[in-house]
Amino acid sequence: MDIHQVRKIYGIMALTAVILVGFAPVVGMVVSRSLFIEMLILGFIMAILSIIFAWKKYRCPYCDEILRAREPMPDCCPNCGARLRE
Ligand SMILES: [Zn+2]
Repeated sequence: MDIHQVRKIYGIMALTAVILVGFAPVVGMVVSRSLFIEMLILGFIMAILSIIFAWKKYRCPYCDEILRAREPMPDCCPNCGARLRE
């Protein structure tokens, strides 16, 4: 798996977490309180999974330096200077 795919998957996971948590109050009001809690729990699990995923996989392929997933992807590795973008 290359780093661009990792970043994309992380982005999808993080977005899913934000959507779940963000819409939970609305769903809770409209549908049911138990669904609100389920969405919150699911959102938090997804957030934790995305963080673990980024921490394990979102690294420089050359020196294993952890890249910051919250920031835009750097052109070069901040540790060894290897180019990460073509
Ligand atoms: Zn590196």
